[in-house]
Amino acid sequence: MKFRQATWRKSNEVLEPTVFELGVLGRGGTKIAEPDPDIISIVGETDELIPENMKRKEINLPGMAEPQVARHFSRLAQMNYGVDSGSYWLGSCTMKYNPKAAMRIASSDRVRRLHPFIPTEAAQHILRIMYELQEMLSSITGLPHYTLQPAAGAQGEFVGALIIRAKHLDEGERQRDEMIIPVSAHGSNFASAAMAGFRVIKVPTSSEGTIDIDALRAVVGERTAGIMITNPNTLGIFESDILEISDLIHSAGGLIYYDGANLNAILGWVRLSDMGVDVAHLNMHKTFAAPHGGGGPGAGAVGVTEDLKDFLPVPLIKKSGNKFYFDYNVPKTIGKIRTFYGNSEVLIKSWAYLKMIGTEGLRKVSSIAVLNANYARRKLVDYGYKVAYGKERPCKHEFVLTLEDLKEYGVRALDVAKALIDRGLHPPTIYFPLIVKEAFMMEPTESDSLEEIDEYVKAMKEIRELAMEDSEALKRAPKNSSVRRLDETLANRKPILTWRMYIKLKASR
Ligand SMILES: *Cc1c(COP(=O)(O)O)cnc(C)c1O
Repeated sequence: MKFRQATWRKSNEVLEPTVFELGVLGRGGTKIAEPDPDIISIVGETDELIPENMKRKEINLPGMAEPQVARHFSRLAQMNYGVDSGSYWLGSCTMKYNPKAAMRIASSDRVRRLHPFIPTEAAQHILRIMYELQEMLSSITGLPHYTLQPAAGAQGEFVGALIIRAKHLDEGERQRDEMIIPVSAHGSNFASAAMAGFRVIKVPTSSEGTIDIDALRAVVGERTAGIMITNPNTLGIFESDILEISDLIHSAGGLIYYDGANLNAILGWVRLSDMGVDVAHLNMHKTFAAPHGGGGPGAGAVGVTEDLKDFLPVPLIKKSGNKFYFDYNVPKTIGKIRTFYGNSEVLIKSWAYLKMIGTEGLRKVSSIAVLNANYARRKLVDYGYKVAYGKERPCKHEFVLTLEDLKEYGVRALDVAKALIDRGLHPPTIYFPLIVKEAFMMEPTESDSLEEIDEYVKAMKEIRELAMEDSEALKRAPKNSSVRRLDETLANRKPILTWRMYIKLKASR
């Protein structure tokens, strides 16, 4: 195999080769130690322990010395973009900074080496972490009971929907098979409700960007199981009629599901229980500073009111005296929904974040996140960008622009996003929410400094000017990235995520 110099820095269209392409047969930098004679004397020759048909006869490992391995992975790391690289205004994703102290705690030996089958007596510290996290989430949201099992926001929604279903069935209300969801909701809401067996009833958004109350009133009835509501909604607007909405649903016998994936705007300012919420999920990997993206692990804690606690998944984490334990005695549980107890390593990071930041810190996080979003929105409006909905009122943690007016120059939201990449900035969420044409959904979070926000909006200003003067130049973006424009449909539908190692197995050597 020929050794190829990585060429991504020189030419745009050439990808960094994989280690298998870089490797040279026979080359290497590792010496494999001889087996320890003491161990062999105890267990015998390992060669004899492994059945013949399970032995690998040949393996095609890349031949590389350590410097080349180190350089390869450093190059890959440099090609990556994360919250530690720069601004990351990916709306609805709350790409906030992940404090290094929390990472250190989560990777310490005391928690890293725990095995899920360890007896609970030996796992008291991790149980305590999870118990305390539940308590902190309870005090933030006003919902008294929590499960930390769901591995993502969407799984939390599914759990919540199953709980709502179980509650109605328990009360003999079999006819409650309709889940109301605003059209601005995250796509996972519709999927979760449908997976839990509900018929999805959509309600439109008013010109203010909030739920159309009259339309809602028209669909509420005796088949209503509940509503799945996001507040602030995905347009970054607070549903100020929330109390009227929850009264309407409750008096019809339905329950309020709250999509709390992004709680950043209201932390410490308003509790979900005060909005009439019965069940909610919170994303640890957005609001609570655990890293995500790239398909990394998540955790979607689900909180419920006193009325719904008997339906939570088992086991629950409880405390008796000084001892923490798993409670499997939950009479009407919807069952177990995740192996072991959830993504505990993610939970540790959120626990550490909350412990470090405290109640006052949380309020400050919210205020700065909201201030940053309003500041950025105002600047962008000054530069000519259009706010999709609710431009007369302040936004919360995020806002949605519509770039439809650039179409007259032949420029689309996608082109503007690609141009941001050339300026070293991660583009925002585009084409979501679906109700906004040429949507540009921006969430600066509390992590960006004033200078960083100014830099981002300045880049947006320049791109807008370029769009009007030389739209063809925008169509050529990105030029400074390792790849240019991908076939995004193909990349989504047929991703190639592995390198096929063809291991040739021969009958005998
Ligand atoms: C991210 C998000 C979800 C889903 O969370 P996942 O962890 O990605 O499954 C649900 N609702 C909203 C509003 C979100 O932003």
